[in-house]
Amino acid sequence: MISSNNNAFNERRRLLIESLRRRGNLSDKVLDAMLIIPREKFLDSSFRFRAYEDTALPIESNQTISQPYTVAYMTALLDIKEGDKILEIGTGSGYQACVLTLLGARVYTIERIPDLVEKARNVFKEFGLKINTRVGDGTIGWSEFAPYQGIIVTAAAPDVPDSLMEQLAIGGKLVIPVGTKSSQSMYLIERMSEKDFQKSVTDSFKFVPLIGKEGWQTG
Ligand code: SAM
Repeated sequence: MISSNNNAFNERRRLLIESLRRRGNLSDKVLDAMLIIPREKFLDSSFRFRAYEDTALPIESNQTISQPYTVAYMTALLDIKEGDKILEIGTGSGYQACVLTLLGARVYTIERIPDLVEKARNVFKEFGLKINTRVGDGTIGWSEFAPYQGIIVTAAAPDVPDSLMEQLAIGGKLVIPVGTKSSQSMYLIERMSEKDFQKSVTDSFKFVPLIGKEGWQTG
């Protein structure tokens, strides 16, 4: 199971989560899950000492692990219930997928870069977490296991992919940053019925681009 014997990291993690809690707009349940996960394990050795800064950090292949605040913010919007089936687009380091799993979700995560999937799979194995992974273009979703009670896209989209809307369960929530390559607004889309979707737009963020058939054509 998940454990970290490094007391210095444990203390820094506690301080980071406390500072996120003080912001007052994040879910305690989500922050409790983040308190258990050693973020340093998702980083290369040269960045581990920065694991508990509230900032995005580089991972392999010119990609990033998202800022802890952003992870907490997006996860809270999904409002996960035990047993929910959640699709994540953009596995990256695998950190967000672990947060979702600790909240009781059954997680399906897709990443377009094979090396990242391999690394994330090793961390999931080390932690003893069962997370379904796939290398591919997440803009078209993962139809085999649809519908999902939640879909979270952790890369910047030019528009909301139709395939992801189609794969959302009625009552389900899609959280996705939409905008230009330099700045995006967070969209929360709820499926009210077969044909009816409700959209709310929240704060601004900056993500790496979502590249694929229903995303950007290039980075
Ligand atoms: N959720 C990640 C984590 O916890 O570390 C952070 C994700 S990083 C900000 C965005 C990821 O989306 C990158 O790893 C990138 O390769 C991936 N990505 C971009 N376009 C994609 C696509 N069409 N399908 C799947 N993954 C994609």
